[in-house]
Amino acid sequence: MPATTHCRICGGTVREFIDFGRQPLSDAFVDPDRGGEQEFFYRLATGVCQSCRMVQLMEEVPRERMFHESYPYLSSGSSYMRAHFEGVAKHFLTAELTGEDPFIVELGCNDGVMLKAVADAGVRHLGVEPSGGVADRAAEKGIRVRKDFFEQATAADVKRTEGPADVIYAANTLCHIPYMDSILNGVTELLKPGGVFVFEDPYLGDIVDLTSFDQIYDEHFFLFSAQSVQAMAARHGLELVDVERIGVHGGEVRYTLARQGARTPSAAVAELLAEEEARDLAGLATLERFAGNVRKIRDDLVALLTRLRAEGKRVAAYGATAKSATVTNFCGLGPELVPFVCDTTPAKQNRLTPGTHIPVRAPEAFSSPYPDYALLFAWNHADEIMAKEQAFKEAGGRWILYVPEVRIV
Ligand SMILES: [Zn+2]
Repeated sequence: MPATTHCRICGGTVREFIDFGRQPLSDAFVDPDRGGEQEFFYRLATGVCQSCRMVQLMEEVPRERMFHESYPYLSSGSSYMRAHFEGVAKHFLTAELTGEDPFIVELGCNDGVMLKAVADAGVRHLGVEPSGGVADRAAEKGIRVRKDFFEQATAADVKRTEGPADVIYAANTLCHIPYMDSILNGVTELLKPGGVFVFEDPYLGDIVDLTSFDQIYDEHFFLFSAQSVQAMAARHGLELVDVERIGVHGGEVRYTLARQGARTPSAAVAELLAEEEARDLAGLATLERFAGNVRKIRDDLVALLTRLRAEGKRVAAYGATAKSATVTNFCGLGPELVPFVCDTTPAKQNRLTPGTHIPVRAPEAFSSPYPDYALLFAWNHADEIMAKEQAFKEAGGRWILYVPEVRIV
């Protein structure tokens, strides 16, 4: 019998379908002088609720361990993502924030990449961001930030001091939060009667299609689908009124919730729900097949890297992403198979990857000299990175990709 737990949304039975074993925190890069003595490990495993179909982690990591003063991820780090968020801001400014003195709140505003465009347009806004370092960066850009976790009490306080919100937005944040009741109670408290709650997060359908198992790590507590979001919204008097599939971060959906009956759901909602039903997206058989595909990727990747090492090829990895923690730890990839990984984030450089202790170097190390093969952990930015690293390819270098299958390009 697979392990079970209780659903964080509805209390139903969650049945496990994949176990990644012992994992470190995905952003806990290790100080080489201290080794791994301080590392925190937990069991990373995923299950699906047999009642509301929400896919979720079997074990929860305390939030203060993940989102803290030195949280290293910056939303503005990629030019593609900057353009994406500027587009989001433009949409809100023209379609939603058009009344008198409109107000927008962003949960997990990170370094303020979206709110900057809102602030520049002179629109009232507030970012709520618990990770102090990135919140300071947003404040430096002239964005109003509250360093806090968003929950019911926070929402009530914001409403008391600032009034209700026309738009509440969250990108790659909502799926991080196990205590969803408090979030959605806060949203319903803070939202204007005709307002919208818009969030975008990795989509279960894309994860299954691409076998992108590295979307599963400590910070991604929930893997949403239209079915599970609709059920979750209904518990709080909210309704799923629009969905849009977006290409960022390896495939996401932007969900729009409104108060029950406030807006007419778009045709896209019914279409995506029907598609999920037809493919039995959250069915155990579908998810167990996904788990089998994940194990094949692990076996193929280890076999390839072992062969390259035996042939004396030089291998490096590109992008010490949070999601690569799942890949390296699940596949057991340490410095003997992947001698180093390059990353543009200064806070990660000269440290070791969580759990597997691969040295992280500055981007300059990639070209001095170029390796024979580069394992692309930041595969969701493949186009942007391959265009930037044209010289690597011209020098004879090859990329190793592992999603949706292991291959050399
Ligand atoms: Zn449930």
